[in-house]
Amino acid sequence: QSAEKTVIQAVHKELFIDGKWRASSTGRSLPVEDPSTGEVLCEVADAGVEDGLAALDAAVAAQKDWAAYAPRERGEILRRAYQLLLDRADDLALLMTLEMGKPVAEAKGEITYAAEFFRWFAEEAVRIDGGYATAPNGQGRFLVMRQPVGPCLLITPWNFPMAMGTRKLGPAIAAGCTVVIKPAEQTPLSMLALTDILAEAGLPAGVLNVLTTSDPGPVMEPLIKDGRIRKISFTGSTAVGKILLAQAADKVLRTSMELGGNAPFLVFDDADLDVAVEGAMMAKTRNMGEACTAANRFYVQRGVAQEFGRRLTSRMAELKVGRGTEEGVKIGPLIDNDAIAKVVELVADATAAGAKVLTGGSTVDGPGHFYPPTVLTDVPRDARMGREEIFGPVAPISVFDTEDEVIAAANDTEFGLVSYVFTTNINRALRVSERLEAGMIGLNTGLVSNPAAPFGGVKQSGVGREGGRIGIEEFLEVKYVAVGLS
Ligand code: ADP
Repeated sequence: QSAEKTVIQAVHKELFIDGKWRASSTGRSLPVEDPSTGEVLCEVADAGVEDGLAALDAAVAAQKDWAAYAPRERGEILRRAYQLLLDRADDLALLMTLEMGKPVAEAKGEITYAAEFFRWFAEEAVRIDGGYATAPNGQGRFLVMRQPVGPCLLITPWNFPMAMGTRKLGPAIAAGCTVVIKPAEQTPLSMLALTDILAEAGLPAGVLNVLTTSDPGPVMEPLIKDGRIRKISFTGSTAVGKILLAQAADKVLRTSMELGGNAPFLVFDDADLDVAVEGAMMAKTRNMGEACTAANRFYVQRGVAQEFGRRLTSRMAELKVGRGTEEGVKIGPLIDNDAIAKVVELVADATAAGAKVLTGGSTVDGPGHFYPPTVLTDVPRDARMGREEIFGPVAPISVFDTEDEVIAAANDTEFGLVSYVFTTNINRALRVSERLEAGMIGLNTGLVSNPAAPFGGVKQSGVGREGGRIGIEEFLEVKYVAVGLS
């Protein structure tokens, strides 16, 4: 209990603007709840429009100097912040579990993952390069340089409260951009803790400005329409992504959008079933299924369907559900009542259409927003959960016969973030990977996320990539100088 109080007390609860913590102009505060109990953990400042514009002013004012900072210095700041994140991983993990619900061990995994974005982009800060070329006709020369895009607006979701922040802040800081960042209203504490770490690591005033608000639409829109912000990087729902894209059109902003997913998980007859079940557990139960990369639809070839279902069910049924701080808990609470209501509705829809429940399938009594690990089989292709993100620990299985049939089913969605494929046949592996409409493929693995790899989707799952060599490009503008040579 006291460790919990201590980590919450240690966090600043105000807005961070121009290098200083300050109260919100609205005088209001925003309660932060523990999803495992529904109790209020603490309150943080609730920013209004005026605060948003103050944060933007600070980011704009700092941009010129920050862009001129030595790349090595920008990298060193990130590198120090990386180390501080690791040094404080235990406290940060507990803080994350309290506000978000995931088991502490997973929260700690996220802190490491989050820190790795800073290490990766610390290394990339000094590798921003350009080009020099002779024009095809031999007459002139081309010079190509890369410069920071300018002040950025970063908006992050609640499901990975630390990593979604560092994944955007890492490349922005490395590239020489200043930012205004707005974490999700459900989970502001991790970002507030990260803010302290970046300040301690030596980030100059004005480079990072942090707004917490209960009213994201009205507070963000004036910034987006202001004209001084040059880029929006957003992770969240497709619905909100579309609103932001429309708003960004007004001033023709650069955008990166990491939106919803509807990941198919394909298991072929020739798959190694141990590997496939392990992958399914990772892709389905990590973060309680509250991930845009979560396997949303399991398609299993007829020859192994029963055995796969049996093994997955026995693994899912033994997962301990409970508060993320308890020993051995693998499935924490979902984020809120709406999340539970959606899962209940999708399961009811599938079972009404003929799906059978192999384990789970009904809500858990008591406080907190818990839903048990659930496996459904014989799920009809037109069930709602085949089209909508479940965002909970529910694995719907349906059977397929041919490769063509399953690829058509897998691609029959407006989303295209990630697809999982399990097969030991190398020809099939490559053929299917090429034909799936997704930004990422998990080939015999249930985990694709890696700071050193390009993360992102196609279709309505988004635009742009985060991480990898390409990640920093999202925050750089290319300038070409045509050189006349006599
Ligand atoms: P989820 O459904 O996972 O909560 P959202 O897309 O609603 O995802 O939220 C992701 C982030 O987008 C959060 O930080 C949230 O505050 C923010 N957000 C929600 N609505 C808007 C909006 N109209 N304008 C800007 N940001 C928004």
